[in-house]
Amino acid sequence: MAKLIDGKAVSAQVKEQVRIETAELMAKHGIQPSLAVVIVGSDPASRVYVNNKKKACEAMGFKSLEYALPEETTQEELVALVKKMNADPEINGILVQLPVPKHINDMAIIKAINPKKDVDAFHPENVGRIAIGEFKFLPCTPAGVMALIDSAGIEVAGKNCVVIGRSNIVGKPMGMLLMHRNGTVTVCHSYTKDLASITRQADILVATVGKPNFVTGDMVKEGAVVIDVGINRLDNGKLCGDVNFAEVEPKASYITPVPGGVGPMTIAMLMRNTLTAAKLQNGIKD
Ligand code: NAP
Repeated sequence: MAKLIDGKAVSAQVKEQVRIETAELMAKHGIQPSLAVVIVGSDPASRVYVNNKKKACEAMGFKSLEYALPEETTQEELVALVKKMNADPEINGILVQLPVPKHINDMAIIKAINPKKDVDAFHPENVGRIAIGEFKFLPCTPAGVMALIDSAGIEVAGKNCVVIGRSNIVGKPMGMLLMHRNGTVTVCHSYTKDLASITRQADILVATVGKPNFVTGDMVKEGAVVIDVGINRLDNGKLCGDVNFAEVEPKASYITPVPGGVGPMTIAMLMRNTLTAAKLQNGIKD
């Protein structure tokens, strides 16, 4: 039987720490961190994410700004707004909710964000910094996974770490963070041959595939730590991870549930990054 890693509890601790540090920043320096979130179009899932980010900002004591733009907004208009926010000293963090409508190139928008305000850590400068281990911000989901691993006291050094998925926002940076902790990392993707033979060697297995119940019991080694990043909506409306929980849980030593695992960590790490951005922009060291 695996021990559950409780993302709700760990995210609550991270947020409480951010709230305390924010109150100190206000009291000592009169600085209130602020996060600007841009949403383009009316995708219902994006609306839920943006509302949750707004609520979290308010709970931290941050100033929260929202720019809701119509679906037909052009790339040029969006870049112009980002540049305006880059120049606004009242805005510490900028987040453009992805996906943006198809006629907008998301990389063009990400590149327009000032790397110092890039609290998602998707800008090429921040990606490069992560690659060489000199980072100020980490992408929120992989950073959240590391916080969960740490919360359970799991040592990464020397372990076989397998990540299934190589997206820019989760899989690739996840691999880099595990490597920085001296894990021996294999990153798998849709071209990987005999995936199960690789995943069965994992001491730490991170699934970020986007396919419900993709990781089955036979793909997991006895005693492995299994982290499920997937958030998949089933036809019955229920949320489901990438890991077949019923099959994998009896074999794993630790496992994250969905919901209540990695999901809550992403917003907590966004709050952490926004506070870091506010401190850095004001020359405040901890
Ligand atoms: P993505 O961009 O679609 O990437 C999926 C990755 O899985 C790709 O690298 C793909 O390989 C790989 N893949 C697909 N089928 C595979 C197969 N049969 N065998 C091996 N690899 C396979 O997805 P993402 O943005 O990384 O997100 C992944 C999941 O995490 C989604 O469910 C998403 O909702 C969830 N997510 C959760 C959070 C959170 O806060 N918890 C945050 C972000 C994402 P190729 O590169 O070869 O196509």
